[in-house]
Amino acid sequence: MAKEIKKIAVLTSGGDSPGMNAAIRSVVRTCAYLEIECVAIYRGYQGMIEGDFKPMNARSVNNIINKGGTILKSARCLEFRTPEGRKKAHDQLVKAGVDAFVVIGGNGSFTGAMIFNNEFDFPVMGIPGTIDNDIIGTSYTIGFDTAINTVVEVIDKIRDTASSHNRLFFIEVMGRDVGHIALNAGVGAGAEEILIPEQNLGLERLLDSLKRSKKSGKSSSIVIVAEGDKIGKNVFELKDYVEEHLPIYDVRVSVLGHMQRGGNPTCFDRVLASRMGVKAVEALLEGKTNYMVGIRDNDLILTPISEAIKGHTPVDEELIRVSDIMTT
Ligand code: ATP
Repeated sequence: MAKEIKKIAVLTSGGDSPGMNAAIRSVVRTCAYLEIECVAIYRGYQGMIEGDFKPMNARSVNNIINKGGTILKSARCLEFRTPEGRKKAHDQLVKAGVDAFVVIGGNGSFTGAMIFNNEFDFPVMGIPGTIDNDIIGTSYTIGFDTAINTVVEVIDKIRDTASSHNRLFFIEVMGRDVGHIALNAGVGAGAEEILIPEQNLGLERLLDSLKRSKKSGKSSSIVIVAEGDKIGKNVFELKDYVEEHLPIYDVRVSVLGHMQRGGNPTCFDRVLASRMGVKAVEALLEGKTNYMVGIRDNDLILTPISEAIKGHTPVDEELIRVSDIMTT
């Protein structure tokens, strides 16, 4: 029979995302509500290896639901990728009397947790915290909604200046492997063209589309480019290419970068994180392990981590179609 869980640890790992604090708060408060001990682990798996733990109670997480980033700090930890590193981490957890942990992070963090579980039969639960929204087993990851709202707000501002000067703007957004941010924020901000890694639009089609835009009377244009776009040129090369082939355009580039990861989480992300934290703790107490909490059709679901880490969720084909229609 599985060991009774009396103490749960929570950590954030990998890239930070807005809403992680709301998830930490939820795990801590659920433990308090259910009268389970809770400890925080600082700096991800690095802190686990070093025993950087702090006992938490319901009051330890006051006034953090609205804050971006993660109060527990995050880190990338090479040592945890080695059996020796994971053994040290396990020793620290045992020493601190921890019976299970909840890791808030992305695919890499979940892979580490799954390997750890396989090696030590130690109960683990994942909560998806990444702005990329590309994790299998959930329609939304914590931080995505905040990120797309940040991007839309910035594009709205850039559009003001673009239309005042009849300019074409290339705006690079995050999304190395999947274009969820580009597609959603692009549709939401009314971009004229959206270039995502999933689609190789081709330079000729881009030029044709821009020519059509100009002919149809548009005085300014916004093109959203996901950083992993397959068109074969980075955003600055794209600017040079378009200026060379379409001299009618005055082209500018804006790379949004890390601002997309910051900021106060939206209400959607706070609620999602609160729900996922409760589910993660309850699932562990029900004896479940090696799962990731996700949301589908507004229901919380559990997906085995082994499934969740298998790849990336594809962009929504229907939204691509909507985008094509809207950019006519
Ligand atoms: P993001 O989506 O922001 O990249 P992530 O969780 O995927 O988040 P990673 O840097 O890939 O971020 O992973 C976070 C940490 O998880 C790593 O620094 C490492 O400690 C651990 N980790 C990742 N992959 C493995 C692995 N194969 N084995 C053991 N630990 C791993």
